[in-house]
Amino acid sequence: MSFKDLGLSPALLNALDAAGYTEPTPIQAGAIPIALSGRDVLGIAQTGTGKTASFTLPLIERLSKGRAKARMPRSLIITPTRELAAQVAENFEKYAVNTKLTMALLIGGVALGPQEQVLNRGADVVVATPGRLLDLFERGKVLLADVQIMVVDEADRMLDMGFIPDIERIFSLVPPKRQTLFFSATMPKEIQRLVDRFLKDPERVEV
Ligand code: AMP
Repeated sequence: MSFKDLGLSPALLNALDAAGYTEPTPIQAGAIPIALSGRDVLGIAQTGTGKTASFTLPLIERLSKGRAKARMPRSLIITPTRELAAQVAENFEKYAVNTKLTMALLIGGVALGPQEQVLNRGADVVVATPGRLLDLFERGKVLLADVQIMVVDEADRMLDMGFIPDIERIFSLVPPKRQTLFFSATMPKEIQRLVDRFLKDPERVEV
């Protein structure tokens, strides 16, 4: 099994080659073809399994044509912590190196101004923690009406940190006609309830 077999294009295959990846991990082999087809994915995977690439690669592939308008990202990746958001952003930069896609990292603890400027220039992908995203939304600095792909990473940690109301709010703000890629290491009932409410006929991939 190679990344080429999964249906990724040369721009991504070259980036993966440069990153030194020779073959997909099981979560990547399972999730990437489903995500590329446009279906919703429920991925059950721990950190260290390569789950970040399993949502980032198809997202890059599916967004590669087109460009975000000012303050209107075309995809949203929500993570529970600033550290995880920064790691996801770093992965995105590595994989998207041969594309023109732009990214905004929206996390708390740093000034709003520079994040607003990046959004104004048009960011195809927003990687965010829930609080800062909603703060910028309330201020009118980010609009969510163009979001085509929404990713929730480490949903069970969101639950532990009390972020479920924020996640529900974010789901209520993105268009119903979208793709959702949802990852969690475990499936407590609160998380299953979110999946039942906000994913459409998801394909479950468990490693
Ligand atoms: P993650 O589970 O997404 O945090 O990834 C764990 C680590 O594995 C990260 O350092 C990735 O850069 C690396 N990684 C992800 N996919 C692959 C792959 N197919 N081959 C080699 N390394 C990978």
